Amino acid sequence: MRLILLGPPGAGKGTQAERLQARFAVAQLSTGDMLRAAAKSGSEVGRQAARIMARGELVPDAVVVGIIDERVDSADCRNGFILDGFPRTIAQAQALDAMLARKGLKLDAVLELTVDEEELVDRISGRFACVKCGAGYHDRHLQPKVAGVCDRCGGTEFSRRADDNAVAVRTRLKAFREQTAPLLPYYRQRGILRSIDGMTGIDQVTKALFAALAPPA
Ligand code: ADP
Ligand code: ADP
Ligand code: ZN
Repeated sequence: MRLILLGPPGAGKGTQAERLQARFAVAQLSTGDMLRAAAKSGSEVGRQAARIMARGELVPDAVVVGIIDERVDSADCRNGFILDGFPRTIAQAQALDAMLARKGLKLDAVLELTVDEEELVDRISGRFACVKCGAGYHDRHLQPKVAGVCDRCGGTEFSRRADDNAVAVRTRLKAFREQTAPLLPYYRQRGILRSIDGMTGIDQVTKALFAALAPPA
């Protein structure tokens, strides 16, 4: 199973990718997570990416395409993968097509999560994650079962993303509208785009995604 999760910042891509990954035993490839890890490592590329991400702009296509190209060959991608946050530009989508063709692989579906802008801002402003394992939470919509303790790993330290601030969010939404939204007609034309209402609760969105992936009866 090879999927793309498409949607604006805060739509729920990471949250749902985690569940799809568990259900289909495939790898979750989040370019955002990979870039944040590179930034933390302090490498030259990582430091450069961190500056761009803090502003809410997109990192150069060549950087993210290179990261994904390498990652797709890993053992955990044998059963397939969910691309979470990639591609984000037409150039990235074309590079992905060329890469998959070269490796003899095919995309099964592109799943779009649709969410209103007002709701996106609410989701982003309440987002936080476990420092130890990366599990995602929300101040109101998804709190740890025991306050201050991560459900998944028991960690007690949480953090918020530097780019989840009002100024960067505006830039990220603009980047989505201008650079990423053109991917919708790109995949629709190929008949592999499925649009899912992302405005409902987390469990309901998961159900809709599973239904969209079920083979037609
Ligand atoms: P993305 O990866 O698309 O940026 P996330 O999966 O990180 O989005 O979700 C953004 C925030 O919204 C997180 O705090 C998450 O817990 C919360 N969230 C995700 N899906 C929903 C939903 N369907 N309803 C309410 N809150 C949600
Ligand atoms: P979200 O979907 O919540 O906005 P991500 O974690 O997917 O966040 O991305 C965070 C930031 O990382 C983006 O604003 C951008 O700077 C960078 N980034 C992630 N994926 C890509 C990509 N495919 N192309 C360019 N930049 C990317
Ligand atoms: Zn944790």
